[in-house]
Amino acid sequence: MKYNIPRGTKDILPDESPLWQRIESTAQSIFKRFNFKEIRTPIFEVTELFSRSIGDNTDIVEKEMYTFLDKKERSLTLRPEGTAPITRAYLQNGLHKTAPISKLYYIGPMFRYERPQAGRYRQFHQIGVENLGSEHPFADAEVINLGIHIFDELGLKDLSVQINTVGCSVCRPVIEERLKQFIQNNLNSLCTDCQTRFDNKPLRILDCKNKKCQTYFAGLPDIRKSICQECSDHFNQVLECLDALNISFTINPRLVRGLDYYSRTTFEIVSNQLGAQNAICGGGRYDGLVSQLGGSHTPAVGLAFGIERAVMILQSLETAATADDHIQVYLAPCDLDRRVRGFYVLNELRRAGIRCEMDYVRDSLKAQLKQANKLGAEYVVIFNDDTTKRQCTLKNMKTSKQGVFTFSKLKKHLQGVYTC
Ligand code: AMP
Repeated sequence: MKYNIPRGTKDILPDESPLWQRIESTAQSIFKRFNFKEIRTPIFEVTELFSRSIGDNTDIVEKEMYTFLDKKERSLTLRPEGTAPITRAYLQNGLHKTAPISKLYYIGPMFRYERPQAGRYRQFHQIGVENLGSEHPFADAEVINLGIHIFDELGLKDLSVQINTVGCSVCRPVIEERLKQFIQNNLNSLCTDCQTRFDNKPLRILDCKNKKCQTYFAGLPDIRKSICQECSDHFNQVLECLDALNISFTINPRLVRGLDYYSRTTFEIVSNQLGAQNAICGGGRYDGLVSQLGGSHTPAVGLAFGIERAVMILQSLETAATADDHIQVYLAPCDLDRRVRGFYVLNELRRAGIRCEMDYVRDSLKAQLKQANKLGAEYVVIFNDDTTKRQCTLKNMKTSKQGVFTFSKLKKHLQGVYTC
């Protein structure tokens, strides 16, 4: 082996890809029901888009971005997340002019230079939605509900919603001030990241995963006591909507999420089946991002979940069904001449919508029947001395019954079996 796959990436092999297809198609069918439309943006964007929107002092921007100069020395970055690119595309393509609300979804790879571990990759894949234009608490609840729908339909169990509010530009300074007052006395005992955040982004201290820091957070003032009336009303209405939809949730006052653009609602959907990396889905409101990127004030809310983590849970469930993609018909020609005719029939059957396969090398019928069994074929078409040039024998692998058909009758017969 001369080359290995880059650290933190993985090959998705044919064994696993049916699960990926199932997750993607389930999500897509639910997006249709919820009236979200697909958007596809480039894998890379100008670096500043991310540093401005996600925030200069965040882990993602400071440590995790795949940034490079192109041949004209422009700084570009492989997208670490989907919200900023979609907001950029929304503005650049004038979607805000065509409808008051844009409900968009995306599926694709994201890139973060993180320390790889189970469920954490450097290239991973997200499915996400953004609702741009609605300030209504229903929009927050709809997005959370959509996530739950997808996971329910996939059969993921043991999930819980954690939710919080981080206030808006009006009340954020009050929240941060209270937090700073509380933390000030223990500041020197906190990690260096927290100490830097204390001055720049005190709210993000709550996101620190350092065990020692967390011991100082017990008894922290509850953010909800410092938020303004509008934020409080909004949050309560989101919770009421979730109640009305029978979605159970836990309020987690420390859930601030690591990105700068969040305002008001933040949430995560957590799985008890995932171990350390237990968040399967994260999201929240980002009412200030569109205007920060040059548009007019446009409230927005979205979520994203990781396909790798959904796959991990599905693999751990007994119900993880594989796709029904076994071969239906196997063609077994017994010499070169017949192989050419078989090749013609193979093509005709495939055009008729039948999943079939043929061996290009072996003449032995025994070996080919063995291979047909291995592939799960229900029928084998045999081309040997028993039939004339335009005929073949069709063998039913379950009943072992067989009969002689002309090529055109064979096609009609199998079409009747498989496409009726
Ligand atoms: P985030 O964009 O950080 O809010 O993450 C949203 C979701 O994407 C998480 O809940 C995970 O399911 C998934 N995710 C984020 N980072 C990674 C990663 N490095 N590897 C695998 N999945 C990830």
